[in-house]
Amino acid sequence: MQSLSVCVYCGARPGGDPVFMETATELGLSLAGAGLRLVYGAGDVGLMGAVARAAQAAGGQTFGVIPAHLIAWEVGKRDLTTFVVTETMHERKKVMFMNADAVAVLPGGAGSLDELFEVLTWRQLGLHEKPIYLLDIAGYWQPLIALIDHVIAQGFADPSLRSFFEVVPDVPALMARLAPC
Ligand code: AMP
Repeated sequence: MQSLSVCVYCGARPGGDPVFMETATELGLSLAGAGLRLVYGAGDVGLMGAVARAAQAAGGQTFGVIPAHLIAWEVGKRDLTTFVVTETMHERKKVMFMNADAVAVLPGGAGSLDELFEVLTWRQLGLHEKPIYLLDIAGYWQPLIALIDHVIAQGFADPSLRSFFEVVPDVPALMARLAPC
């Protein structure tokens, strides 16, 4: 039987605080230890590479999806359990999401924000019910959460938007939430 899968969106860069890479490694180890399959963007750079290397090292299942034009740029990690090459970014995001039971978002840049808002807006439209977790390492996502609260307060989104994602402070808290998924 296919193990449950967690789609991880995170930076293709390491970020400015070592705690980001450390936590990405901790997440990879924890997913593998819990028997959860990692679904991610198949790169071997930044936080993406750290999550995947740790999951692999701990014997976990890894499912990576990368568009052909990014294989060199993001150092496509061909030794994953499953390595899928798509033609476009849109296909990549679709294949990642289709193969996941839950989404976890670590610190990242514009790409991670794009991925988060895609699944968040799909959730808002009732297109899926997969849980979305923001891993708020060192308070990284606080400005984003404040922005979303501002959007709601100014009447540009229903308050229910805030209920479509859950903020967790660390990997153990995330794993506790993922356990039943
Ligand atoms: P970043 O958070 O910018 O470091 O990007 C993290 C991952 O998101 C990388 O694998 C990017 O290729 C990917 N990504 C997904 N959608 C986009 C997009 N629309 N623009 C840029 N990067 C994206």
